[in-house]
Amino acid sequence: MKIYNTLTRQKEEFVPITEGKVRMYVCGPTVYNYIHIGNARPMIVFDTFRRYMEYKGYDVNYVSNFTDVDDKIIQKAKEEGVDADTIARRFIKECKKDMEGLNVMPATVHPLATEEIGGMIDMISDLIEKGYAYVVEDGTVYFRTSKFSGYGKLSHKNLEDLQAGHRDIKVTGELKEEPFDFVLWKPKKEGEPAWESPWCEGRPGWHIECSVMSKKYLGDTIDIHAGGEDLIFPHHENEIAQSEAASGSTFAHYWMHNGFLNIDNHKMSKSAGNFFTVREIAQEYDLQVLRFFMLSAHYRSPLNFSAELMEAAKNGLERIITAAENLSRLLDACAGGALTGEEAATYDASAVFVEKFERAMEDDCNTADAVSAVFELVKFINMHASSENSAEFLQKLSDRLKTLCGVLGITLEKGQAELEADIEKLIQERQNARKQKDFARADQIRDELAQRGIILKDTREGVTWKRV
Ligand code: AMP
Ligand code: ZN
Repeated sequence: MKIYNTLTRQKEEFVPITEGKVRMYVCGPTVYNYIHIGNARPMIVFDTFRRYMEYKGYDVNYVSNFTDVDDKIIQKAKEEGVDADTIARRFIKECKKDMEGLNVMPATVHPLATEEIGGMIDMISDLIEKGYAYVVEDGTVYFRTSKFSGYGKLSHKNLEDLQAGHRDIKVTGELKEEPFDFVLWKPKKEGEPAWESPWCEGRPGWHIECSVMSKKYLGDTIDIHAGGEDLIFPHHENEIAQSEAASGSTFAHYWMHNGFLNIDNHKMSKSAGNFFTVREIAQEYDLQVLRFFMLSAHYRSPLNFSAELMEAAKNGLERIITAAENLSRLLDACAGGALTGEEAATYDASAVFVEKFERAMEDDCNTADAVSAVFELVKFINMHASSENSAEFLQKLSDRLKTLCGVLGITLEKGQAELEADIEKLIQERQNARKQKDFARADQIRDELAQRGIILKDTREGVTWKRV
């Protein structure tokens, strides 16, 4: 498998630290609101990467944190007159609901920053001891970037150029030695959550949280660290500096970053009104559609979200689900039987789509091409599956389609909401047929629904339906 590594700016063959295992850390969201569709992108693409690695037989230890202490959380808590913990817990719960809707597998561990403070204090103490960090008079602890010679290697920035650009900038009240020194620990402000530490009562900086949680659950050196491209600098650059300064070994071998999701070709922004939460999208679409939409592009490309593209994704997904439903209908109706020689040859011919799918995924998780391979398999199924076929043949095709879709995290059963919308649509069509005195069509729809276990009742108020 080839992975584009932000660190080396090239695609590299993936070689795990331990054969058969993947240790992976994905930066999770800051929980102060419902997650937006941009936050859903790394969740979906790296979940798909994980599913593919598992499909290949790897044992994936997948760690993704929740940042549950942060200025935005504190601000939201103040607005509502509750404590920060209440906000964080509420939105972790809501985020997990959205993840379930998006069919994102729960991580092996979802650590919370607030439950790892002890580890953070240990790492900061270690950095101070080694001369990589210093305490200033108000109790703030800073990382001494100039001491870490590798600073800038991920973002391909040169620290001296960075420093030169900022030489004249002196933020009043900041006591740090150099402009690019960053906070490891900061003193408490009135009304903020805080923990005791050797330097002052306060809270950790954002970057140290991920360094510590990655080390605790995955070890000093991990295979893959991932997140959105906005995290390359400074977040991931700073994580490398802290972790490598503390441990003396490489922090992560591969760095994967997803491109940004824009709306109608503009950066998502609350003030401009082009901003959607996953929850809002769920009111209009089955969240599988959002997942499918995201996977139709390469994870590193910028992706534009628009109503038309979502409709296209919906139709594409529908085509796949319809093929799967046809197969199960044929299976229900067929007489059984084992694979014939001719069917075996046809089934073997469909392996080409699996190869195509795998080739795409092997090439830096190219889900766009993998989705194309699934469409080709669907076309093949529509062409070759019929009521004449044996049960074994139909079952094997169905399993093949299900397996590939499973790697993409797409389930082939329609969601409850979609099923109900389908029923309502058919009922409406039946009403129209009756108005136009097309009773044959109206009866056909009634029978079709009856076959699906839906019984209609004509009442004075309209048509009602129930499942039997
Ligand atoms: P945050 O809660 O801002 O720390 O973001 C959580 C994750 O979502 C990070 O990996 C971000 O890089 C990612 N992210 C935030 N906004 C977008 C966006 N518009 N498109 C893609 N990824 C994003
Ligand atoms: Zn992080």
